[in-house]
Amino acid sequence: MEYYTSISKSSDEDNCVSFNCPHCNERFKLEVNEFEEFEGDKLYCPSCGLHGEISEFYSDDMMEAAEVEAMNMAKDLINNMFKGLSKKSSKNVRIKATPLKKDTSPTLYEKDDLELFKTDCCQRIIKINPISYSIKPYCPYCGGIS
Ligand SMILES: [Zn+2]
Ligand SMILES: [Zn+2]
Repeated sequence: MEYYTSISKSSDEDNCVSFNCPHCNERFKLEVNEFEEFEGDKLYCPSCGLHGEISEFYSDDMMEAAEVEAMNMAKDLINNMFKGLSKKSSKNVRIKATPLKKDTSPTLYEKDDLELFKTDCCQRIIKINPISYSIKPYCPYCGGIS
């Protein structure tokens, strides 16, 4: 499943996408290009500092978009198959295929209540909810306190 396709689709005007901490459920955002460049397999929550597999941090929105994306890819395959079949129709055998309708990805609602922040350690852009932080956030990439 291509998560990255969905990730780029769900980015906001700052090119950031939402993640959810599996531990404290805090929502934060990472910049898409920086996230794609990131080669580690763990992320740290900027709020509680606990880490987990990257996939554990995918937000529900993103998973939903990824599912729609995967379904559409499957439908494309089926549609192309039937297109080929229709061409094979002869006078005696008519195969009529109605293409499956594709779902549009859910428009991801990106509330912009988050504040842009740049980590000192990795120089990465993150977006966090300022209300949740009395101390500086942890860096999602290295777990350090920026
Ligand atoms: Zn957390
Ligand atoms: Zn860092």
